[in-house]
Amino acid sequence: MAANTDPHGNGTAEEQMPDLSDGDEDEDEDADEEQWQWEEEEESQPVTCLFCDRLLSSVPDTLQHCTAEHRVSLVDVIRKHGLDDYGYIKMINFIRSTKCSPSCLGGLPEGPLPWESEDFLRPVLQDDPLLQADPEELCEGSCSSRACQSSTAEPYDVLQRRAQAADERARSSEEALARAMDDLHKLKLLAQGLVLNADTSKSRNLGTVGELREDEDEAYFSSYGHYGIHEEMLKDKVRTESYRDFMYSNSEVFKDKVVLDVGCGTGILSMFAARAGAKRVIAVDQSEIIYQAMDIVRSNQLEEKITLIKGRIEDIKLPVEKVDIIISEWMGYFLLFESMLDSVLYARDLYLADGGSVYPDLCNISLAAVGDTQKHQDRVAFWDDVYGFNMACMKKAVVPEAVVEVVNPDTLISEPAVIQTIDCNRVCLSELEFTADFSLKMTKTTECTAIVGYFDIFFDKDCSNKVMFSTGPQVTKTHWKQTVFILDRPVPAQAGEELQGKVTVRKNKKDPRSLFVTFDLWGRKQTYSLQ
Ligand code: SAH
Repeated sequence: MAANTDPHGNGTAEEQMPDLSDGDEDEDEDADEEQWQWEEEEESQPVTCLFCDRLLSSVPDTLQHCTAEHRVSLVDVIRKHGLDDYGYIKMINFIRSTKCSPSCLGGLPEGPLPWESEDFLRPVLQDDPLLQADPEELCEGSCSSRACQSSTAEPYDVLQRRAQAADERARSSEEALARAMDDLHKLKLLAQGLVLNADTSKSRNLGTVGELREDEDEAYFSSYGHYGIHEEMLKDKVRTESYRDFMYSNSEVFKDKVVLDVGCGTGILSMFAARAGAKRVIAVDQSEIIYQAMDIVRSNQLEEKITLIKGRIEDIKLPVEKVDIIISEWMGYFLLFESMLDSVLYARDLYLADGGSVYPDLCNISLAAVGDTQKHQDRVAFWDDVYGFNMACMKKAVVPEAVVEVVNPDTLISEPAVIQTIDCNRVCLSELEFTADFSLKMTKTTECTAIVGYFDIFFDKDCSNKVMFSTGPQVTKTHWKQTVFILDRPVPAQAGEELQGKVTVRKNKKDPRSLFVTFDLWGRKQTYSLQ
């Protein structure tokens, strides 16, 4: 591993360095050096073979290996099908994602290629050096042996043009990827609409996220593969500092303990735990972000303490039988959206030693009434007259979608009521779907236009310094904001009266990561989806 991080230690890269002595040595020496260093790093990045687990030191080596070991010449495939840059990229991703055998490439029938779909523009491996290669150059260079390449030094400007061309390709691939992601998103929305309107009795019933297969959960984990979502979470100081303060100010809880971090992301909680005195931390994440966590942990010299494992906690085997503490930041919108708590409970039941603890340990879900006539008009009455047209039928689609947004505390018109308390050390899976009666004490005489939901988190068990945070509208906002369930029409409310209601929270059986929340208020039922 260490060798990969040291490009200067790689002798073969040096052999492949072009001879620069023909150029103007004095001119732009620094820039040249930088350029070559860049080249060197590029070249020294190992390449995973397309058909086996071998790591090869360069793209040409990989092609040679494929020809020698797997009897398939990628250059012949490129030539035979006249693959351009996109075709080539799609072919590489197709081979990696379908794990097709080398022989299937040789015997492709006439007609459309199996990697025609734009989906294959999406890299299967992060920073795959094969995707950075130029198919035209691969074909041109196919005659040259390794020795031949080292003797054909190319001038700086040729390489620069190549780098620019590669940049251009990367940019257009990114644009194509963005378009594909957009299409995917639209398809998802369409599928969700179908799911909502479908007859559930005929379809396969997935009960929990634990029963999801890896491929079924791919979209979920790939959403965590991008750095943006982790940046947002890390920058949410209320969230991250609460975890930090809990661990740093209760170091006696962590001293010499074995800790499991379920869904470690960038590894932040694992590093807090290590600094708080844990003997060993095992950090698990199925998302590609774990590769960054590996670098992050090494950069902070914590690799002796923190063991990172890529995989779904439900699919992997931990290197220890039991752990003393489980930490996780699993909370979704309205607490239970995403259903990641299912995975934490799975880990708890399998790995937590007797007397061990899950943190955070206590969570409350609360509701309050909202009176915001302006917003209600913007969202609901708006559809009555859109540029002179009646679109009121849209209300049926708009109202049942819960909205994640920050609620102005001035629009709250009742005291909050806790509808559910979850003790992560005791709760069982079936209790994560529940029905609760609630009563909201009105504080203003006005019209009720929505119900707002949010949650509070407590680090409590065995802690001498207890820590908590809230995601409610009255305090500093977090990235969870609040969840708003808008009413189809405003209902008058009197200060002092108690609004009695019933709420049911259940998973969408067809997509156990999304939730249905049903309110029974004023004798009327309305179901909201949260996706
Ligand atoms: N602990 C990090 C990241 C929290 S986000 C932090 O606090 O910043 C939740 C992470 O859990 C995501 O990276 C997601 O990929 C991971 N995750 C969710 N369910 C998982 C499961 N069943 N197995 C492994 N990782 C999971």
